[in-house]
Amino acid sequence: RAKAAGKSGFVIFDEGMHQEALARLQLETDFRLAFERAEFRLHYQPIIELASGRLVGAEALVRWRHPTRGLLPPAEFLGIAEETGLIVDMDAWALREACRQLGEWRRRYPELGQLSMNVNVDERQMVSPEIVEEVFRLIQEHQLPPASLRLEVTETAFRAGRGQAEERLLSLKALGVGLVVDDFGTGYSSLESFAASPFDALKMDQVFIRDIETNRRHRAIVRTITGFADELGLALTAEGIETEGQRALLESVGCQFGQGYLFSRALPAEQFEQKLLASARIVG
Ligand code: C2E
Ligand code: MG
Ligand code: MG
Ligand code: MG
Repeated sequence: RAKAAGKSGFVIFDEGMHQEALARLQLETDFRLAFERAEFRLHYQPIIELASGRLVGAEALVRWRHPTRGLLPPAEFLGIAEETGLIVDMDAWALREACRQLGEWRRRYPELGQLSMNVNVDERQMVSPEIVEEVFRLIQEHQLPPASLRLEVTETAFRAGRGQAEERLLSLKALGVGLVVDDFGTGYSSLESFAASPFDALKMDQVFIRDIETNRRHRAIVRTITGFADELGLALTAEGIETEGQRALLESVGCQFGQGYLFSRALPAEQFEQKLLASARIVG
């Protein structure tokens, strides 16, 4: 919508753009302050074993408690986080907080045993030199079995030519933490790039799940991914399960884990804890 830059090189803004730019600048200023003001929160979405209904883990999802605009989902601020580079600090915070919370739950409820925690890691954090040491330090500090921490990265983080990320992934793998490909099936990676990759799990993107009952092509893709994961010995989770029909279909093709509104939205820590205890009681 920018009125083209004239010969002079000036860009002429209209009033709407001016307002938009100001709002954005304000949000960016607020975002920088969010760290000092401790406004970030993690919500936890249950990850379910489809056959048993057992709650086996959580995915930590960041929220921003904005002073005037309320609780914001990542879609509202990830753009700013990426552009300012502050996503590295935000992710570092999220990783620390998720590890602290997992350690607390594991200590408080030792009978739950296997509980794991998935944390999203942006590719910029993945290439940062501190990540391996930081993960090592956190699993020590909170006495986490390394495999109970699972880092989710999207395919862009290990595309060809990203040697640094590849190197970090191998070092993290050596620590024993789980590595998960997030939004699998929506990126541009060749299947070949997975042959040598150090991942132990895939997360199927919700675009395939949403219409799995009506869209034959998506159903075929889901079957193919399930077979692929199975053959390579990768754990498989489906995201965005909203109906019992979707759940049953996924279970029938052999997808082992799932998450989605059918089971639960992402919850604040206290509410997640209630679910955790309820699930442990039902399953015994
Ligand atoms: P994601 O990692 O693929 O997370 C799944 C998203 O799908 C979450 O949105 C979750 O709330 C949503 N979802 C879960 N079940 C359902 C369902 O049944 N139906 C529908 N329609 N949606 C469902 P959320 O929390 O808004 O997060 C969006 C994205 O933001 C995440 O996608 C992830 O890529 C990113 N993100 C979240 N937290 C972090 C973080 O700490 N660091 C980084 N770098 N990215 C994050
Ligand atoms: Mg994720
Ligand atoms: Mg995902
Ligand atoms: Mg997704």
